[in-house]
Amino acid sequence: MLNGTDVHAVLEKRIKEKAPAPIGEPFVQAFERQGAVEAEVALAVNHWLKPISFWGGNGIGHQTEPLIRGKFDVVITQGSSAIYADWKTGKPYENNELQFRIGALLLFAARPELQQVTGFNVWLKTGKLGQPYVFKRTETSPQWAALIKQMRTIEARDPKVEWEKQPGPLCKFCPVRSCVAYQGG
Ligand code: SF4
Repeated sequence: MLNGTDVHAVLEKRIKEKAPAPIGEPFVQAFERQGAVEAEVALAVNHWLKPISFWGGNGIGHQTEPLIRGKFDVVITQGSSAIYADWKTGKPYENNELQFRIGALLLFAARPELQQVTGFNVWLKTGKLGQPYVFKRTETSPQWAALIKQMRTIEARDPKVEWEKQPGPLCKFCPVRSCVAYQGG
């Protein structure tokens, strides 16, 4: 199997240029039947949660400085709904609701016509779709509030204090060899 970077490049070419892809073709065809398909969509919002370009602008201050950025492997738009998907080449592991929630918030900010966004992983090794995470525009205000609070809590931590290690299911994918919980990832 191609490595993760190559897979993303191959599937981006497949979606943007219709170049043949040795992997993921059935998924791309299924997405194309659903609506307009885009690859490698990059979005950002500024400190006022307004959409701006991914790299921000040339001005000074928060107006043009990205607060949160996100890149989407695939976005499929169907009227007021969008689906977005992440290509995954590893072993299936579902634990990224936060990542999908941030993605949905960025999509809602950038595309006012959207009322619902659904995100999921595409597990290329097993040929299966992951758990769908569904988000509605009506829920965005409390979700932004919770996310900003979480970010402020992290920012307020003392950078001189070493963060505690929290062994968990991600350890088997982690490359930090010096950690006592390292599992060969
Ligand atoms: S192995 Fe990696 S993910 Fe697991 S506790 Fe150590 S640093 Fe954290």
